Parts: sequence; structure tokens; C-alpha cells
Amino acid sequence: MPLIAVLPGDGIGPEVTTQARRVLEALDLGLQFEEAPVGGAAYLVSGRPLPPETLTLAKRANAVLFGAIGDPRFEALERQLRPEAALLGIRRELGLFANIRPATLFPGLESATSLKPEAVAGLDIVIVRELVGDVYFGEKGRRHNAEGLRQGYDVMSYNEAEVERIARVGFEMAKRRKKKLCSVDKANVLETSQLWRDVVNEMSTQYPEIELTHMYVDNAAMQLVRQPNAFDVIVTGNLFGDILSDQASMCAGSIGMLPSASLRAWSGDNGMYEPIHGSAPDIAGQGKANPCAAILSAAMLLRHSLSDEASAQRVEKAVAGALAKGARTADLGGSLSTTEMGDAVLRELV
Ligand code: ATP
Ligand code: MG
Repeated sequence: MPLIAVLPGDGIGPEVTTQARRVLEALDLGLQFEEAPVGGAAYLVSGRPLPPETLTLAKRANAVLFGAIGDPRFEALERQLRPEAALLGIRRELGLFANIRPATLFPGLESATSLKPEAVAGLDIVIVRELVGDVYFGEKGRRHNAEGLRQGYDVMSYNEAEVERIARVGFEMAKRRKKKLCSVDKANVLETSQLWRDVVNEMSTQYPEIELTHMYVDNAAMQLVRQPNAFDVIVTGNLFGDILSDQASMCAGSIGMLPSASLRAWSGDNGMYEPIHGSAPDIAGQGKANPCAAILSAAMLLRHSLSDEASAQRVEKAVAGALAKGARTADLGGSLSTTEMGDAVLRELV
């Protein structure tokens, strides 16, 4: 029986995760759930944001359903005690190197941007972002240069194995969708990107059915605001992916609609699934958060960690169905509570 670790976290995390869990339970797949505190909630009870028991559970489970973390009361704590440290800890300990962020505009919803409707109609793109390498994790520091000026530096680097494993995720994703993969880099100026491009090209021979294109990141940023729905799967490094995935997320209806997955392989155990939004302290405890991002994250969990594509689609269709019937939380211009939105999705689960 697959074990799902439920880590609700802080703020609206528990509110939205409850709805995601209800949906998973309603599928009647014989899943087993175990809950543990994380983030500020864990700090309150144990003095640390990622207690060893929570980490052990996450490692033992087939997948982690994660809510959100962040609590303004703990912002002044030293870095490793802050709620956010838990997220980095889990990523590191579980070896989650691939971050998958779909941006979908469900029928009936309006984009949060002022893009022309024809540029976002049917928007359904996925950004595959490398998560543990690149300039964030290279050598970094401060020094004085030869003229005595203060200097800061962050080394950007990737080795071929790191590029290969993320490229693999991109190709596999593309294979199951429209068979189009766009690899984004800055190969005209960066050595790292030239290696990236070489490795992606080499791998493409294993995927003759995939139409591979390369795009410079500056152009990709431009195309994403010009005609985002022209993309399907984008694979890119940590820094570029960080920026582009936030940009793409604005094309969807609301931050409350966007799920994510962090994986350590294309499919298999130990992925982590969470809404892209944070703990939203401004609306926490009011029962008005949109649970769709959490519910759609549960769908990704079914797809990637449990290899249950049919159930994943059932959940996604139920969300689409509820929206089609007019179900809307406040962020979408409606007045349903978090639980009522969960009810609306459950009613559509067929
Ligand atoms: P973090 O640093 O963790 O990303 P944040 O405060 O920067 O936290 P969010 O917590 O994502 O960002 O909140 C950003 C805004 O979006 C807030 O106004 C919040 O109320 C709103 N928001 C976030 N998630 C939801 C949701 N599920 N439903 C409705 N509104 C949401
Ligand atoms: Mg934020």
C-alpha cells in the first residue's frame, strides 16, 4: 500500500492540503497517509523546522504531499531555524533535482495578465527546471580585486551528468505530451550553456520522435509574454528556470491554481508535490484559500510517484469540471470557501 507523507506546514498549507487529501482519499486507491509537522508548525513543537521524524517519514514514504511553509513570526530567526530551511533540507535529503511547474489556463478562467486572450487561450505548458545546480550552488564569495574594490562572485557550473538527468526529465515529459521540447539556455555567451546544448543534442538521438528546439533565455522571456501558448515543454537550468517559471505562472488564472512537483527521477518514489504559492499569512485561517493548486499537486503525485496517469487525469478533469460549472474561490472572483471548492471538485470526480 503506497504511503503518502502529508506535510501541511504553515498558514494556508493545512487548509489546502486537507482538500488535496480528501480528493486522494475519494479515489479509493488504498493509499495510506501519515502526517507530520514541518516549517514554523514544526519549530513551535520541536524547536526545528525539519524534525528528524518528519524527514524520516518523507524518506520512507512513496511521495510527499506538501502544503506551504513560512511564518512571519519566525522571520528573525537564524537561517537554519527559519521555516523555509525545511524545504531546502527535504530537497537535499531526497535528492530532488527536477522541478516541474505546469502553467495551465483552465477554460473559463482569465489570465492574471493583460495578454491578449488568443495568446493565452488553452495555455498548457510545463517548465522543467533544474533545481540543485547552476549559479546558486557554485563557489561563491566576496573578495577585494586587484584595485582593492569589493567584489562578489557566484560560479555557474554544470557537469554533463547533471544536464543529462534533467534533460531526460524534459524528454520524457515531452514524449507524453505534444512531443515538443524547447531547451532554454544562453549558449551564445555562456560556456555552461554550450555544454548544456551539447548534452541535450546528444540525448535527442534517443528521442527521434521529439521535436527539439533551442532558445536563448532572453528570447524565451520575450516569447513567453508574446505568445505563451505556443510553448509545450521547456527544459532549463536553475537560474533561468527560476525566472521563467514565475513569469509563466502569471499567465494562468491565479497563483492558487498552480501545482508543482520536485522529482529525483522521471518517475518513481520520493517525489514532493506542493502548490507554488506560499503560506499566504494574509488570508491564513480564514478558510478562503483556493485549494486547486494543492489538489492539482496531488494529481501530479499520482502521475509521477505512483505512475497512475488515469487517476491523475480524473483529478485534473474534476478540477476543470468544477471550474466549468462556475466554482470559484475569492482569488478567482468568486465566494466559495476552501472546503466548498474542495466539495465542488469532489462532486466532479467520476
Ligand atoms: P512565500 O515567500 O512563501 O512565497 P509570499 O507571501 O511571498 O510567500 P504567497 O504566500 O504565495 O507568497 O502569497 C502571495 C499572495 O497570493 C498573497 O496575497 C496570498 O494571499 C495570495 N495567495 C497565495 N496562495 C493563495 C491561494 N491558494 N488562494 C488564494 N490566494 C492565495
Ligand atoms: Mg514569496
